[in-house]
Amino acid sequence: MKDIATPTRTKEILTKYGFSFKKSLGQNFLIDPNILQKITEAAGLTKETGVIEVGPGIGALTEHLARTSGKVVAFEIDQRLLPILGDTLSPYDNVKVIHEDILKAEVAPIIEQEFQGLDDIMVVANLPYYVTTPIIMKLLEEKIAIRGLVVMLQKEVADRIAAKPGTKEYGSLSIAIQYYMESEVAFIVPKTVFMPQPNVDSAVIRLLKREKPAVEVEDENFFFTVTRSSFAQRRKTILNNLTNQLPLGKEKKEQILSALSEAGIEPSRRGESLSLQEFADLSNALLKTMKS
Ligand code: SAM
Repeated sequence: MKDIATPTRTKEILTKYGFSFKKSLGQNFLIDPNILQKITEAAGLTKETGVIEVGPGIGALTEHLARTSGKVVAFEIDQRLLPILGDTLSPYDNVKVIHEDILKAEVAPIIEQEFQGLDDIMVVANLPYYVTTPIIMKLLEEKIAIRGLVVMLQKEVADRIAAKPGTKEYGSLSIAIQYYMESEVAFIVPKTVFMPQPNVDSAVIRLLKREKPAVEVEDENFFFTVTRSSFAQRRKTILNNLTNQLPLGKEKKEQILSALSEAGIEPSRRGESLSLQEFADLSNALLKTMKS
């Protein structure tokens, strides 16, 4: 049987079921088996790996995952795709499709239940572009037992996730993800490998979970509040952004100046120049001044 991801087989399947793409669900299906192979290779899958896939579509990536891993659990929101997947994935007995919105799913108990005996868990997906960031943040913040994620998304978002300090792409998203994960853009993907073609360029990003977070912070939520506040207006200094954004009392500016000084950060710098370590030192110093 030909790969699902060849243009002819994809067209045959779509015609057989009279399927029409829903743009609102980010439905851009992959029609190039080489890209699928590169994605599975980037994920380092073995028969000991349990894979979580978000949005199997008609099963193009799912079948490659089924061939190269122990088991695949795929979450698909679009009811119309379930009978199609039942057909296209029938040759594989190690795939389970769950009809659920990934953003509402309780992933941890599903991993425990479905991946017994598999202790290497990866998320591998061609993500729906309208919700890439919420999906990644959900999977990171729930602290589920995964080794990492290899996911296709908009190139612009991939660049922001993997960005280093001092670049225009670096911001609170880079920090939120790099705090938990080692991040790199694995490869760039041309529009021509999708049906229909998306309007933006795409990339595959590899995120591997760190043994412990990149920096030590006393309060994670506050650390993320400080980083988000520091980038509220990119052209403003860190002092101005924090003064405008942080919910502190009357002595706000003095407290921020004292924390910046304790962390060794010039108040005139901009958020984009601060490393994760500097943000950690700053948020820890701010907490201290707030308590004193
Ligand atoms: N994996 C297929 C491929 O590569 O050809 C399809 C990828 S397509 C970019 C995204 C898929 O995610 C679609 O099948 C869409 O219906 C599904 N989807 C969209 N939002 C979702 C959500 N919140 N939860 C689960 N699946 C979702």
